[in-house]
Amino acid sequence: MKTAVITGGAGFLGSHLCDKLLHEGLKVICIDNLITGNVENISHLAGNENFSFVKHDVTNYIFIPGEVDFILHFASPASPVDYLQLPIQTLKVGSLGTHKALGLAKEKKARFLLASTSEVYGDPEIHPQPEDYWGNVNPIGPRGVYDEAKRFAEALTMAYHRYHNVETRIARIFNTFGPKMRANDGRAIPNFIMQALNGEPITVYGDGSQTRSFCYITDQVDGLYKLLLSDEDEPVNIGNPEEMTVLEIAKEIIKLTKSSSKIIFNELPVNDPKVRQPDIKKASEKLGWKPIVKREDGLRNTIDYFKKLIN
Ligand code: UDP
Repeated sequence: MKTAVITGGAGFLGSHLCDKLLHEGLKVICIDNLITGNVENISHLAGNENFSFVKHDVTNYIFIPGEVDFILHFASPASPVDYLQLPIQTLKVGSLGTHKALGLAKEKKARFLLASTSEVYGDPEIHPQPEDYWGNVNPIGPRGVYDEAKRFAEALTMAYHRYHNVETRIARIFNTFGPKMRANDGRAIPNFIMQALNGEPITVYGDGSQTRSFCYITDQVDGLYKLLLSDEDEPVNIGNPEEMTVLEIAKEIIKLTKSSSKIIFNELPVNDPKVRQPDIKKASEKLGWKPIVKREDGLRNTIDYFKKLIN
């Protein structure tokens, strides 16, 4: 039986990955300091003999006894609101945390997968974004703490690959949504759903013409798993290329929740990317992966999750 360590395993993506890897027959050791993760996301796994949870901040030395085959490094604040409130922690987990997780991979001769992000492309000048685009990031802007931490994490991962021969994988994760997102993480989809369900105004930032491409969680996790098992050591975009404006997603959520909420327009956050859409040719060719869940179905599942949360 293979063993995987997932840092940030109690977060939105991390907890779904715990489920996926257990389902695929692996042992899972979940590490999380619970700053933005939530034990509720993994509470159903308590008592599962193949699952264990360690409360730990991975910017400090990570000690795991026994053999480890895979390390999936997902620990990081990951929503704009979170990393603006936790700028130093975000920089530390992307740098020191990635260093510790890579050190563990080297020690255990384990394969390492980095959760990187479409934010490495910044406010992109090339559209859609292929993996060989180097990005347009403002290092000293408010988003710089996340973008640069992840860019550093990619550089460190490639250095461990080249100089220490660690087997590494880099996923550039685009906007992803689904059950277990935090209701108050400040992201567009949870914000809009909670506002719509509570009959509050829907807060579209700017004029809502900025675009995003939203991937449902099961598709995302499927892509990450395929990347983990592949032999591709250069970055791969994992996301859904179906692009839409933020105003369109707001309207779609109002329709699906049958809400009477009205849209209001608030100030656009600094350096908010104007467009974002993954080029997934590489994922499709190298991993044989593409998203299959219809956005409406994904949104309905997510709305149901938040309805239960409210009740
Ligand atoms: N957004 C919005 N209203 C909100 C939250 C977010 O209009 O209540 C916008 C945000 O400015 C961005 C897009 O929705 O243009 C996606 O934001 P999110 O925080 O989900 O992720 P990002 O792509 O910015 O990392």
